[in-house]
Amino acid sequence: MDNASGRVQVWARVRPPIEQDHGPCHAVDCIDKTVRVRNDAEAVERMLGQADTSPSPEPKEFAFDGVFGESSAQRDVFMQIGLPVLREALRGINGTILAYGQTGSGKTHSLLHQSSKGEEAGLLPRLVASLFLMISQDVANVYDVEAAAVQVYNEQVDDLLNPDHQSGQGNNLNVRDGGIVTGLNWIRCMKPDEMLESFTRARANVVYAETKMNKASSRSHAIFQLRISKRERVFEAAKTGQKVECTIARLNVVDLAGSERVKKSGSEGMRFQEATNINRSLLAFGNVVSALAARKSHVPLRDSKLTRILDGSIGGNCRTALLVCVNPAFEHVGETLNTLEFASRAMRVEVDAKVNTALVEVSAKNLLADLNPEAHEFGKKVMADKKEIEALRKQSAEAAEQAKKEAERREKAVQEAEGHVKKLQQARYRRPGRFWSEFSLCH
Ligand code: ADP
Ligand code: MG
Repeated sequence: MDNASGRVQVWARVRPPIEQDHGPCHAVDCIDKTVRVRNDAEAVERMLGQADTSPSPEPKEFAFDGVFGESSAQRDVFMQIGLPVLREALRGINGTILAYGQTGSGKTHSLLHQSSKGEEAGLLPRLVASLFLMISQDVANVYDVEAAAVQVYNEQVDDLLNPDHQSGQGNNLNVRDGGIVTGLNWIRCMKPDEMLESFTRARANVVYAETKMNKASSRSHAIFQLRISKRERVFEAAKTGQKVECTIARLNVVDLAGSERVKKSGSEGMRFQEATNINRSLLAFGNVVSALAARKSHVPLRDSKLTRILDGSIGGNCRTALLVCVNPAFEHVGETLNTLEFASRAMRVEVDAKVNTALVEVSAKNLLADLNPEAHEFGKKVMADKKEIEALRKQSAEAAEQAKKEAERREKAVQEAEGHVKKLQQARYRRPGRFWSEFSLCH
């Protein structure tokens, strides 16, 4: 299969209650692949203290590709969402995994959490570990893996892996068509630790922004990118200078800004421009999803920096997975419903992902790298196997040829014998006297 068309895959996750939650926390249930939200009028009124709200007492149901309840494990989230996208990336299909939801609903925990307790690790560290594990097991191919990370804050794209990020270097970068950020630092990683360390450094830079810019991180989008290219390992010097095909995939893991509407009081202290910009990217993202879901001819991808970066990553040549995170508290039922309605819309967005290929020249340097001792041993085995298969093929072709010749020889002998018998018979009929005399002698 050379492509992976279909639609955006959508999962919902309800996080467990935590200390910071106020009031009752069981507004959301997960049943099979459905999320049920109890929009209980009384409970909402009690929590919000507003007498005039009149939401429907009927629970609302939303069906997705999968749901993760309060006791779900980080591993299950990775196995269902991350692993299929990673597997496709290894054969050259772009992938994007986004987490959407209000602040405090579990987006960062699900995607990025790193902890000394392995089972608590989020999707990105698991993806990195699995990537390098798969690569190490595939000695027949050579991989090139790079990492990058950006933050979109206040309609500005900042390189989170610029060595001088904290002194303002690598900020306000341009985004070209196809979501390419110009001047971005891509770090080539040979081991999982190198990539994990890069992403940890990128995250620390987001946190730095949070302390510096007054909780900016919940209003900023963090995008962690991986570029994976793969080609067959070369074992023969004759291949030097030749072009071989490689697959290239880009993987994005996107921790979006909190989707809640900024309350008026929250933006009062900010400059007008900043307050407008904070929401612009997320609003534009919602509009892009709505336009794609409704199959509109115009998709407003150019309306914000975030949607420009995601050009092609949603509703295009990319396998896209969306994880929507919700808060279990009655207090947040309104935002939970907004989130789940957005997720239902996203399920109607079609994608048409293809295997991305390019030609690369095998340089002498490539050849040397390919023939590192471990790979060389494997290579020799592959070549020996190939030779053995070739010899067997030759043997069976020779045997088939011999059998054919033998069959032809026998066929010819039979034909000759038949011809001989015919001749004898004809001879006897031509000399009836003799025949009849022989006949009469016998009786
Ligand atoms: P967001 O990124 O959406 O703002 P966070 O991921 O920071 O939210 O989560 C908010 C809080 O809830 C954090 O303290 C986090 O540790 C906790 N949390 C979120 N999801 C879970 C979960 N599945 N299990 C345990 N704690 C969680
Ligand atoms: Mg977060």
